[in-house]
Amino acid sequence: MKKDDIREEDLVEEVKFEIDKNAFSGPFKCHGMRTRLISKKIDVNGNVFPYSAWKCRKCKKEFLDSDQAKKLEAIWTIEKMLKGNILSMKRSINYDGKMFFLRFPKELTKEWKKGQYADIKFIDANKFIVEVKR
Ligand SMILES: [Zn+2]
Repeated sequence: MKKDDIREEDLVEEVKFEIDKNAFSGPFKCHGMRTRLISKKIDVNGNVFPYSAWKCRKCKKEFLDSDQAKKLEAIWTIEKMLKGNILSMKRSINYDGKMFFLRFPKELTKEWKKGQYADIKFIDANKFIVEVKR
């Protein structure tokens, strides 16, 4: 991930951090010391999304490794969805005796074809983003 991929206007609260272009995992070094792992959270319309970052003990600068950056990006995607007043629908969770499943209404699946698949991104145990791919 490049630094340019993240825009500050996407943030709920102003958060300052830096993404190290070449580092894929922390802890990073800053001021000659190992940064420490900290827990952070963003509140999006009452939904609290936790994420983690690396923080310098001295200058308090925060760094994200690639996994942390991906997670934060997913949170921002959700934030955009929520702020955009997108449509949502309540669906019953069905159970066939073995597995849980849900149905999509016909109006949404008119263009779907056999062989497509769903890419499910996990936000937490109860929150997902489902993208239907061709
Ligand atoms: Zn520092």
